[in-house]
Amino acid sequence: MKELAPGIYSLGHGKGGHVHAFLVEARGELSLVDTLFEGDARLVLDALRRLGRSPTDIERIAITHGHRSHLGGLAELKRATGATVYAHRWEADIVAGERRAQAVSILPHQSLRLIPFQLGLWLNRPRHTPCPVDELLDEGDSFGPLHVMHSPGHSPGHLTFWWPERRFLIAGDGIATWPNLCAGWKAFNLNHVQHKASLERLASFDALTVGVGHGDPITENAADHVHQLAEAY
Ligand SMILES: [Zn+2]
Ligand SMILES: [Zn+2]
Repeated sequence: MKELAPGIYSLGHGKGGHVHAFLVEARGELSLVDTLFEGDARLVLDALRRLGRSPTDIERIAITHGHRSHLGGLAELKRATGATVYAHRWEADIVAGERRAQAVSILPHQSLRLIPFQLGLWLNRPRHTPCPVDELLDEGDSFGPLHVMHSPGHSPGHLTFWWPERRFLIAGDGIATWPNLCAGWKAFNLNHVQHKASLERLASFDALTVGVGHGDPITENAADHVHQLAEAY
């Protein structure tokens, strides 16, 4: 766990393609975006303990989109925290286990290190433990202190989050820094026209810090990086 700024914690490790989740605290309330890979949610629960907080202090959990790496701990966290679970309407039935996420090509693309994840989507393995979504989120909604944006392209119901006071952006899989800085894993981005438009929108925020779905957060020259990724896509 790393505190990126007051009230912003980055959680992540090597699994799930160096997947990251973000815990934010405002007015004493905790909100979690994404849930890491492991089904037992131990990294999130460990982080809470280290902060001197209990699981029930998490008020709400949002899922950026219905890809396996981001959903692993959700069912266990719902059980442990009683938090309200949020997702976009397009992703909600994937999260609930009623529909599978769309497969992508299994041909090598960008990096051989992504092939296990391409295969995972293809085979729908390993599956996550399904968890019903309590509330839908969409463009213009609030999630704790964060503003919600619908940012399709990577997936149809992909969400990103913006905390204006901290200039903190959670880009989800719109941007990745593992295995290298890129505009998301390109083979996984289902609609490139939409994805470019979403990137341009993210760039317009001139974020100070950008949390990404895979890899370490961008903490230096973040706005420049996002502008360059949007232009080059
Ligand atoms: Zn994804
Ligand atoms: Zn992902």
